[in-house]
Amino acid sequence: MSKYCLECDWQISTADGYTEAEVSEKAIEHFVETGHTVDSLRLPPPVVLEN
Ligand SMILES: [Zn+2]
Repeated sequence: MSKYCLECDWQISTADGYTEAEVSEKAIEHFVETGHTVDSLRLPPPVVLEN
């Protein structure tokens, strides 16, 4: 999971060693501290193949 700010360069990711809960928590902290809008980087949905 990855979250990023729409209004500054702030971003956080589970790839940085955070758990998903920590990522969510820190995203909320950034919003509370700055009022910035934080969005999630959504992974593409799994491709369903119908043969
Ligand atoms: Zn920001």
